[in-house]
Amino acid sequence: MTEPLSQAVGTAGDRRATDFMDIALDEARQAGDRGEVPVGAVLVRDGQIVARAGNETEAAGDPTAHAEILAIRRAAQAAGDARLPDCDLYVTLEPCAMCAAAISLARIRRLYFGAYDPKGGGVEHGARVFQQATCHHAPEVIGGLRETAAGDLLRGFFKERR
Ligand SMILES: [Zn+2]
Repeated sequence: MTEPLSQAVGTAGDRRATDFMDIALDEARQAGDRGEVPVGAVLVRDGQIVARAGNETEAAGDPTAHAEILAIRRAAQAAGDARLPDCDLYVTLEPCAMCAAAISLARIRRLYFGAYDPKGGGVEHGARVFQQATCHHAPEVIGGLRETAAGDLLRGFFKERR
């Protein structure tokens, strides 16, 4: 917990933001039920969900099949456009460096994430992709949205596996 939730989330549209994060949490739960690391993502444009996904790395045998990548890919394909500048991404865990780079390339407007990830995150930790001079688009970042729920889901999953 790096800052109080109320401060991290701000005031505008909080209600909708938590609703979308709850849907991302549903995707994460479903991923966990499939034996995937429980992370989920939802892409929203104009208040409408345009793509949703959970991790599929195990099922797809694809190390890049993170929820964020899948949601971005699906939304871009549906839109027929490699850029999604009017989209907001909700993901239950701080994105890794690969996903942060994809978020930048897709020109995502705003990133909401749930739990902070000191071990694998690339936004507030590690590579801090959006803070690099080589990053040409940085989204607005709001971390810690439904942080406890997202963290509990991950902790429960890894506890069970040990
Ligand atoms: Zn990732």
